[in-house]
Amino acid sequence: MHGSAWKRSRSYLAALAMISTLVAMLGLASGCARDYVSGQPTLVMISEEEEVALGKKYDEQIVAEYGVYDDPELSAYVEELGQSLAAVSQRSHLDYHFRVLDDGVVNAFALPGGYIYMPRGILAFFNSEDELVGVLGHETAHVVARHSAEQMSQRVLFTGFGLTDRLAARFPVIGGLATAPINLGLLKYSRDQESESDRLGVEYATRTGHDAHAMADFFKTLGTMSAQADHEIPTYMSSHPHPEDRYERVNQLTDEWQAKLGVSLEPSDPTDYLKRIDGIVYGPDPRLGFVDDNVFYHPALAFQFPVPKDWKLANSATRVLTVVSDEKALVQMTLADEATATKAASAFLAGEDLDLIARREDRVNRLTVVELESVHTDGRTRTMVLSRFVEHGGKVLAFNALAGERDYPARRVQVVQAPVVATWPL
Ligand SMILES: [Zn+2]
Repeated sequence: MHGSAWKRSRSYLAALAMISTLVAMLGLASGCARDYVSGQPTLVMISEEEEVALGKKYDEQIVAEYGVYDDPELSAYVEELGQSLAAVSQRSHLDYHFRVLDDGVVNAFALPGGYIYMPRGILAFFNSEDELVGVLGHETAHVVARHSAEQMSQRVLFTGFGLTDRLAARFPVIGGLATAPINLGLLKYSRDQESESDRLGVEYATRTGHDAHAMADFFKTLGTMSAQADHEIPTYMSSHPHPEDRYERVNQLTDEWQAKLGVSLEPSDPTDYLKRIDGIVYGPDPRLGFVDDNVFYHPALAFQFPVPKDWKLANSATRVLTVVSDEKALVQMTLADEATATKAASAFLAGEDLDLIARREDRVNRLTVVELESVHTDGRTRTMVLSRFVEHGGKVLAFNALAGERDYPARRVQVVQAPVVATWPL
């Protein structure tokens, strides 16, 4: 979570509305669109305007969720390189946005309509401008070839969401929470689409005077990394072609494109790039919260709360999500928009489709706490929601614990335990 740049937490149901919009758009879309690479008609069912609108909508979510990394110079540099690649692409008329996200993941991704994301994690991982350009070119190509638009047309946008996807199915009441993109494995492309993006990425990099052999080297590095068992596999690899084949092919394509354009490009000087990323935050940013010995600490907002031993924790710019290992209960922490715990509790009840069972007001660790116990009914599924709104440091921390009605009695102890808030440092 961001201490400094808290965004207003959206209603849990806001993202559900967004999905409805998406489905409606897909339903209304008709006619045949053009493939910008081949010029042939394609199966993409949405128009370019709809594609751009869709990208813009998700972009707002992603920026709210992760935050833009606070380094304007680095951002401007990535933007400039990205724009030069987009300008030599087959779809240069689009309005492109290249964003550096405040996330430590070694990943990059693109949304329809011209939105491309480079988390700081992958920027820290590159060794040269050529490597950065290779990946920027590859992601730009996904936009140019409308790969994500194709995926959306097939309504598989949410594949790859993993944990939050499953939670959405289990806890319909928290649609917004569960469908917001908490992990960056946004879209899964086919191998053909990946190959096409490699080919186009090499073309764009070469046209802007960058040696795309570096792109091959980068994929090789990632391959080596993912082969190390003790190292977390970078998500960038998960949906991409086999690293060995890819290395050969990208090198070959680079030779072909340099021959075609009659150029022989030298690798860029690594020291220039390394100077630009000097001091970049590597891995999770501890200022935004960290877990130590089963306690989550948020230094910027000066609070802490216990995280039960077998619970998983996902921390982003707008929330902290903790999930029990069997995924039958979760606790989400956000900042409420309201000034007092009482107002926050009322707003929460008014904003969600919940039946109130009990309401308590208390003082815990000298903090004012309003606790609600409520239930959400969706057909036969009943989800119990235990909420705590805690006044602390002029803000209201909102904890919402969810469990299915059947699981709730057994989980209640854990669920109740989790949102006990103490200030930090004590
Ligand atoms: Zn790709």
